[in-house]
Amino acid sequence: MTRLIAELDVALSARASAGLARRRRTVDSPQGARLAVDGREVLHFGSNDYLGLAADPRLIAAAERGAARFGVGAGASHLISGHFSAHEALERELADWVAPCAAARALLFSTGYLANLAIVSALCGRGDAVFGDRLNHACLNDAALLSRAQFIRYRHGDLAELSRSLAGSRAKRKLISTDAVFSMDGDIAPLPRLLELSDMHDAWLVVDDAHGFAVTGDGHGTLSHFGLRSERIVYMGTLGKAAGVAGAFVAAHPAVIETLLQTARSYIFTTASPPLLACALQESLAIIRGEPERRERLLALIDRFRAGAARLPWRVLPSETPIQPLIVGENAEALRVSEALWQRGFWVPAIRPPTVPRGSARLRITLTAAHTEANVDALLAVLSEVGEAK
Ligand code: PMP
Repeated sequence: MTRLIAELDVALSARASAGLARRRRTVDSPQGARLAVDGREVLHFGSNDYLGLAADPRLIAAAERGAARFGVGAGASHLISGHFSAHEALERELADWVAPCAAARALLFSTGYLANLAIVSALCGRGDAVFGDRLNHACLNDAALLSRAQFIRYRHGDLAELSRSLAGSRAKRKLISTDAVFSMDGDIAPLPRLLELSDMHDAWLVVDDAHGFAVTGDGHGTLSHFGLRSERIVYMGTLGKAAGVAGAFVAAHPAVIETLLQTARSYIFTTASPPLLACALQESLAIIRGEPERRERLLALIDRFRAGAARLPWRVLPSETPIQPLIVGENAEALRVSEALWQRGFWVPAIRPPTVPRGSARLRITLTAAHTEANVDALLAVLSEVGEAK
């Protein structure tokens, strides 16, 4: 064995003994409340398919029509020859639906990760400063690092600290970045106050609404939830979560979008996503617009879960979104609980550092419109049983 491989083996064993080894389970059915996983059927509370659209027959049919019309691959990046009429139409619909400012445009990306990299590095560089909430998603942090701007993180939701840092900064340009709905906690960022601060300090406000788009603000997303619009806002929504498909988009002032299109490396140097996905997404957007009952049903399930979870032995976070984590604490205990649930036919992933801060390992329970009240009651019953065995 080479020294290089031996070093990796040592690091991997250390990771495993700290309860940090990750493993994948293999799904062999469409996304939904019930899944075939690793050869068995389980009730599933771990996806971001919040509206239950990922396996909707109408989306599947739209993808099939898209494949028949455009083929399967885009063949090139958007700026070479991979930008199709389906992409163009979807961008227009998304810009109108989210409308972060007057006459906004939108730009599609293959993933939210790439979209965040594009935004921050197109708007900031050396001599600038990025201010980010400590619980922001990893890809917003990576985006700040890649931009080469100074990166200043503030304690979760601590606007006094943010305000002091902004006031003390001599950076040429400033950018505040935040998750709109925090991905592992489920709480909503105080966007109105963040916008006030960005107005006061002439900063960009980058809003990552991966978990809010199609869910909050009657489906328009978290800006609409608060009734916010501004030329300072650069909005990023992902399309692989509540929208049920894949990809992401940025919606912002036309000058921001044109800057991304002209300069963002993670836009320019990657193949466009298959146009059939844009076809499926147009169908998804029609459902997001036309079936508010999916969100109503989801909200009712969230209330039902929270009422029952208050009686469980773990801390419940103040979340009004479909992300309903139970804080367990130690990694090994989070794994034990997740495994005990699995043995009883429930799939609830244990989330550990570095995804969440050390000592706050948790069960990240997510609810979707595909769940029934009986599903939620069954989960509460099994959590109560597993909790008693602590
Ligand atoms: N931002 C947040 C807050 C996320 O949770 C995620 C995905 N987990 C992303 C961005 C990245 O999006 P994508 O999965 O489309 O790369």
